[in-house]
Amino acid sequence: MSPEPVDPAADDTATPSLDFVRQKVVDDNAAGTFGGRVQTRFPPEPNGFLHLGHVKSIFLNFGIAEEFGGTCFLRFDDTNPETEDISFVAAIQEDLAWLGVQPDEVRFASDYFDQLYTWAEDLIRAGKAYVDDTDAETISEQRGGFGQPGVESGCRNRPAEESLGLFRQMRDGVFADGELSLRAKIDMQADNMWLRDPVLYRIRRVPHHRTEDAWVIYPTYDWAHGQSDAIEGVTHSICTLEFSDHRALYDWCLDQLDLPFDQPQQTEFARLNVTHLVMSKRILKTLVDQGHVDGWDDARMPTVRGMRRRGFPASALRAFTDHISVAKTNSTIEIELLESFIRTHHNARALRRMAVLDPLKLTITNWPEGHVEWMDVVNNPEDPEAGTRSVPFTGELWIEQDDFRLDPPPKYFRLTPGREVRLRNAFFVTATEAITDDDGNVIEVLATYDPETLGGNAPDGRKVKSTMHWVSRPHAADATVHRYERLFTAAVPGTSTGEPLDDLNPESRSTTAAKVEPALAEVAPGEVVQFERLGYFAADLDDPATFHRTVGLRDEWANIQKRKSS
Ligand code: ATP
Ligand code: MG
Repeated sequence: MSPEPVDPAADDTATPSLDFVRQKVVDDNAAGTFGGRVQTRFPPEPNGFLHLGHVKSIFLNFGIAEEFGGTCFLRFDDTNPETEDISFVAAIQEDLAWLGVQPDEVRFASDYFDQLYTWAEDLIRAGKAYVDDTDAETISEQRGGFGQPGVESGCRNRPAEESLGLFRQMRDGVFADGELSLRAKIDMQADNMWLRDPVLYRIRRVPHHRTEDAWVIYPTYDWAHGQSDAIEGVTHSICTLEFSDHRALYDWCLDQLDLPFDQPQQTEFARLNVTHLVMSKRILKTLVDQGHVDGWDDARMPTVRGMRRRGFPASALRAFTDHISVAKTNSTIEIELLESFIRTHHNARALRRMAVLDPLKLTITNWPEGHVEWMDVVNNPEDPEAGTRSVPFTGELWIEQDDFRLDPPPKYFRLTPGREVRLRNAFFVTATEAITDDDGNVIEVLATYDPETLGGNAPDGRKVKSTMHWVSRPHAADATVHRYERLFTAAVPGTSTGEPLDDLNPESRSTTAAKVEPALAEVAPGEVVQFERLGYFAADLDDPATFHRTVGLRDEWANIQKRKSS
């Protein structure tokens, strides 16, 4: 689909707010580059699960295609058979579907192995590539360094015919792994190290998850990536900053193709980093392999699967990545900002429920024996359409252990012997006595209630200083609740020792056996509810009687902003 080129002058109020990547698209369209076409791609390597960093790249690439009437392919960059697997191909597609993006086409770099090989032969014939028998370690030494001269390989001037013969023998399996490689003949003294005769093909006897045993030579990233972009007709090849140095090589490789249309152009943006998280498949894999988390889909993981289990909705992730926009320099976003997007989303939608996470018995001694009072309670004060539900109240309740103190510290306004408090949506109660076990731990609190305070207000206008949530013991459902702290204690894991795992929080998860109101027994897998006073919790995707704390109620991001501005 070719949209009309966008004229930036036509909407000069909107243009200045565009990020630099979108601005480039607007400029290219105005200049007629690519004939006004916009085509992007998201190119994951199928060697792990997608994480929040990928999410940013996904919404950027698919977002641009959407906004400019273009197309976006999902391309698996599958040129390293050692670490790649078909299971990741499926998982990545599932995650994309969950994120709500629909690739115009799904492609594989391995689809292009024949074409890439043919182009490599052309390059050899043109005297721009040669087969080298130098080993990988020596190649790397001879590359030199910045301000250090490179050393030309003795094979650099091998006649094209000879290189061609050797290259075919490489393909046919005549040589051992690592014995020979194909290198581009560019400039061993270039300031840019990537132009010092980079390797384009290496021998690897590793079966590929798609081409199986068809190949024993595989193209490197640099030979595969730009050429794949060209094959697909990509216009804007958007990647992260670590590829900036590769751009000259990307362009060089494409220059060799003599394309009948404008060459794809690479644009780099800063990787997304978020405090207290790591965004590297390698480290995430270590967390899984060493058993620090339950798996790639553990609710503490910043993977798409982990965030999904945790109750981070795709639309809130998109709002977050759109908000932080794209930058040209690396920086780290505070996790509290991410959480505020999640909280805002759920505040508008989540049903309010009562759950007691650390249960303590509260028994009302003047309650009519066996009586059940059904309270009509609002489901979500932010959303009148969410209606109400019936919550049973009896003389036998669960309250939070934290809501009672035998010896209250100063400014403790919750329940203590002799004090009156409000039970939310129900009655005022006054604690009369605490029953303790042999160790002095409070195991039950006795109280009386005032029947005149039904609904939570005293007709005589008397006030109480706290309101507590509760669950009726005979009606309570059991639930397992996981509460989470930061997965890494340091804002930037690895700052002090260089090893992110040193900052792993050993207490990132605590699990309790909770008592919850009956309505919580009917929550759908994955649904997020607000436990009143406690936070937002997501029902587990496999077992909805297990809940994961999504985020707390307090907007810590707002507090951080206040602190910064004062
Ligand atoms: P990792 O370092 O976690 O292995 P990667 O960059 O190797 O990540 P790929 O599968 O090669 O992962 O990346 C697919 C796309 O996602 C690339 O275009 C890459 O630039 C982008 N991407 C990966 N991590 C981030 C991030 N933290 N922020 C933005 N984009 C990212
Ligand atoms: Mg990678």
